[in-house]
Amino acid sequence: MSTPVIVGGGLAGAAAGIELARAGRAPLLLEKEAGAHDKICGEFLSGEAVAALTALGVDVRALGAVPITEVEVNAGHRRVAARLPFTAQSVSRRVLDAALLERASAVGVTVQRGVTVREVTARETSRVVVHTSVGEMQTSALLLASGKHEVRGAARAEGPDEIGFKMYFRDAALSRRLAGRVAVTFFDGGYAGLQPVEGGRLNLCLLIDGPQYRALGSWPALLERLCRVPALAALAGAEALLSRPIAIARVPYGHLAAQADDGLWRLGDQAAVIPSFCGDGMAIALESGRLAGAMLAEGASAAEYQRALLMRTRRPVRIAMLALRLTRRPIGRLAAMVGLSAVPSGLAVLARLTRVADPRAVVVAK
Ligand SMILES: Cc1cc2nc3c(=O)[nH]c(=O)nc-3n(C[C@H](O)[C@H](O)[C@H](O)COP(=O)(O)OP(=O)(O)OC[C@H]3O[C@@H](n4cnc5c(N)ncnc54)[C@H](O)[C@@H]3O)c2cc1C
Repeated sequence: MSTPVIVGGGLAGAAAGIELARAGRAPLLLEKEAGAHDKICGEFLSGEAVAALTALGVDVRALGAVPITEVEVNAGHRRVAARLPFTAQSVSRRVLDAALLERASAVGVTVQRGVTVREVTARETSRVVVHTSVGEMQTSALLLASGKHEVRGAARAEGPDEIGFKMYFRDAALSRRLAGRVAVTFFDGGYAGLQPVEGGRLNLCLLIDGPQYRALGSWPALLERLCRVPALAALAGAEALLSRPIAIARVPYGHLAAQADDGLWRLGDQAAVIPSFCGDGMAIALESGRLAGAMLAEGASAAEYQRALLMRTRRPVRIAMLALRLTRRPIGRLAAMVGLSAVPSGLAVLARLTRVADPRAVVVAK
């Protein structure tokens, strides 16, 4: 049996690495970034993501995570708020991903940073050739955990023409108003999440239609436009903490990797992409990594793993896509807000329906 190779040291890759190492099949993990880095993400860690991290040996509270117990949804001048059906946590990906990779190294994963996988070829269930920035290698088990990035030879279909942005802000009054709360705001052409994160900062993460962004032409113009949305107006006086936002284009929301017939183990965003306003992408990444690590160590095939993961991800992704479509049109947003105003507990129900798996069903390493 050759050493398993993991492409990508985000949540999915690191989780798979830890499970494999604990089961005695320590893998090689290749991560293109040489050090800790910011990532585009709302940084809302749902209850089952926190449970998965704890099982992997990472205590997010020790990393300075901020608890989130309430959600508010805004559209126009309407606001609905509810308690979450779990306690979420908020911590920056810069800190979280570095801690998880450190944990992976500590349990025996060989982590090589600054190595980019350029292509995977000659795929058969028994042999994959991995072309990297430092040479070529072969493995019988390739775990593809490159997240939002495509690897030549194994790319997903492109997503719609939408652009994601993330920026950190500091603002004392806004931080007080949002203490313990995530605010999701829908507007014409997109939506934004705003929540406190460690270090007294606020994370603004949003998605906007490509044509609308290009008509605005720049990040300052987009920010000005967002500040005209009632629920985001307070950002006008907030201090931006990054020299420029982190951006991403064409996220393939709704992507669900079908049963693998090429022997690749697809993890995290490479396996399932849930609309980001649900705040469950990280839980899916962790769950898929843990499941892949455990099943590979037990001798399962990539196809068996992909089928098992699909069973857990299909329902939340499809429900989230329905909700996303509803919020795309003003009439849909109005109907949703009127409905939620009448029954605010509907928010908690939606939060529950879009979770990847009951935390009790998460595979726990021996
Ligand atoms: C706008 C937006 C907001 C979001 N907000 C939330 C949220 O609040 N809560 C939530 O739970 N989820 C959220 N998500 C989803 C979440 O960020 C992802 O689902 C999650 O990061 C997926 O983890 P991953 O490990 O699959 O990929 P990633 O976290 O993207 O990690 C992939 C890693 O692979 C590395 N890599 C890529 N290509 C290569 C290569 N060729 N060679 C070597 N290394 C490579 C990258 O450098 C990276 O470190 C959001 C997503 C978006 C787009």
